[in-house]
Amino acid sequence: MSDIAIQCRDLVRIFAAEGVEVQALQGLTLTVERGELTAIVGASGSGKSTLLNILSGLDVPTAGQAHVAGHDLLAMRERDRVAYRRHTVGFVWQQTARNLIPYLTATENIALTLAVAGVPRRNRRARAQELLELLDIGELADRLPVQLSGGQQQRVAIAVALANEPEVLLADEPTGELDEANSALVLEAMRGVNERLGVTVLIVTHDPGVSEHVRRTVQIRDGRTSTETLRRTELTDAGEEQHVAEEFAVLDRVGRLQLPPDYVAALELRERVRLSLEPDRVEVRKGDDE
Ligand code: ADP
Ligand code: MG
Repeated sequence: MSDIAIQCRDLVRIFAAEGVEVQALQGLTLTVERGELTAIVGASGSGKSTLLNILSGLDVPTAGQAHVAGHDLLAMRERDRVAYRRHTVGFVWQQTARNLIPYLTATENIALTLAVAGVPRRNRRARAQELLELLDIGELADRLPVQLSGGQQQRVAIAVALANEPEVLLADEPTGELDEANSALVLEAMRGVNERLGVTVLIVTHDPGVSEHVRRTVQIRDGRTSTETLRRTELTDAGEEQHVAEEFAVLDRVGRLQLPPDYVAALELRERVRLSLEPDRVEVRKGDDE
């Protein structure tokens, strides 16, 4: 088995609506290793949901490559696509209503997914309880969604998404409708299942605060991955743990990178820039004057 869970290369998705073309993804490249917990952050309209719909098998890219857990998403036929959605990926959406069936209890919601995945009826209740306990909400088993807080509903939704033992868990703005405290609970729940089950987790959100809960945050801008922030823990001279976050620009396979907009603005860079290779760096200078 390969160590790569998600591999996107030069992914393009063009929507044609009323004669107008929207390039939602403009050559996105992303690699996620098996067992990683990654967040993708970007402003509204940057292409996050488009990417997640493709990775979850609901939408097909216009061009490029996308592989998830060994499945080639562009070559998949309809029957494989259904199996892929049932067994390979799990998803959590922003709208709690899209995740849970309102007239079923937490246990029944999970049992339904287990039924679809082919788990025999006699095993379903115990397995559902196990999942709810994994998410620290075992006592909420018999409640209906309406009897749960937003944060609790999203944790039930995570349990439902994990019911088919997916290799990859995808979440689109899972904290979008939650306050800060509940958001933190849900993100920590994501981190918990990543650690305990080893499932690869990819969360997309416009909330930059997510980076405090994950090791790796990838920034997406205009349908492309632009920069990446990695957090690690270091020991200070005094022997205390401290978190260090470092931002990197993403260089794609053909050598393209995006300059941060504030750098572009600061030097008023436009259209053409001068590049020069120095022994230990590449310099970018204004191109329009000498
Ligand atoms: P995000 O989730 O980051 O807010 P989206 O992936 O939803 O961004 O959208 C990216 C761009 O693609 C936006 O400009 C959006 O209007 C456009 N878009 C998304 N889905 C469609 C669609 N089905 N038809 C036309 N345009 C779309
Ligand atoms: Mg979205």
